[in-house]
Amino acid sequence: MTQRIHDYLERTAHEAPCLVMDLERVRDNYQAFAHAMPDTRVFYAIKANPAPAILELLAELSSCFDAASVAEIRMALAAGATPDRISYSNTIKRERDIATAFDLGVRQFAFDCDAELEKIARVAPGSRVVCRLLCDGEGADWPLSKKFGCAPAMAGRLMRRAHELGLEAHGLAFHVGSQQPNPGMWDGALATCADLFRQLGEQGIEMKMVNLGGGFPARYLRDVPQVEMYGQAITGSLKRHFGNRIPQTIIEPGRGLVGDAGVIRSEIVLISKKDDDDPVRWVYLDIGKFGGLAETIDEAIRYPIRTDHDGEELAPVVLAGPTCDSVDVMYEKEPYLLPVSIEIGETVTIESTGAYTATYASNGFNGFDPLRCVCI
Ligand SMILES: *Cc1c(COP(=O)(O)O)cnc(C)c1O
Repeated sequence: MTQRIHDYLERTAHEAPCLVMDLERVRDNYQAFAHAMPDTRVFYAIKANPAPAILELLAELSSCFDAASVAEIRMALAAGATPDRISYSNTIKRERDIATAFDLGVRQFAFDCDAELEKIARVAPGSRVVCRLLCDGEGADWPLSKKFGCAPAMAGRLMRRAHELGLEAHGLAFHVGSQQPNPGMWDGALATCADLFRQLGEQGIEMKMVNLGGGFPARYLRDVPQVEMYGQAITGSLKRHFGNRIPQTIIEPGRGLVGDAGVIRSEIVLISKKDDDDPVRWVYLDIGKFGGLAETIDEAIRYPIRTDHDGEELAPVVLAGPTCDSVDVMYEKEPYLLPVSIEIGETVTIESTGAYTATYASNGFNGFDPLRCVCI
């Protein structure tokens, strides 16, 4: 937790769970990316945390933006970004939304199939298109699976088709899976990209750009490599596969930019046991899967949790949320260790919760308000 968040929490009483974002940390993270990958433009993945203050800060730092919807495009514009700094990188778009984005001035679109390419050609003529490649997300804590992308040979065919349709066959994209702890994971995808750049080049189609996606991790319970390691590994792969013809590159960090800039404060509502001699306690917080901690699905993301009793004796607990829904259990298969002395009514802080929390919260399920986000 940053000192600024600590001081803010000291000053304010706990009413309901609240996410506090330290904008200074977001700024530091942005600069760390810019420094580690100086030849790469940053397109912030808005969906990770669309708080206006974050978008305004990043727009001021001259970041670009990766939008998943027209609403996100409007948010980036409202924050001060010009449309040439926005990429509509969702591969699943309604045709009328593509048309609206085009009217708003957006000229860069991602796609991964014929039908989507045809939509773009119809309502966003002459735009730059970026074909997303399948990438299995191996090793990532939150893999993006087969939902996005197409096979390399199909991507080659689609880019020729884009060219025929009068679109600008701008480049290729991939995403190595979110929370990707292995900086080497970009290498295989970059080898594929370089092959496709060569093949299409021989056919007179000169692609210009590779979108390296997101995947840069936040630090949760386990250590992760620094962003410099990712920069070095990716630069090495670009040189190895593209030689002296390195294309323009962009990255679309979400989690890596805002994850560790946020802390949620929560209250312990109940501590109980399921049998008198059961050694495992159940600890129920006032936030759970529906309140913003959706990435605890399958116990994928394990957040660090701090209490007023850190350093004291630990015991395993099952950690659950406050709703009347049995899936609202966060850590059970691998119980969580919390101090034996924690008590009902005390507050805890859940760290590194700046990404994929506030907008993942339900809209009033069980009467609980969506998670509030405060930027300081
Ligand atoms: C979600 C998403 C990102 C951000 O991924 P992180 O792992 O949070 O950095 C980047 N690009 C696209 C297309 C996405 O959908």
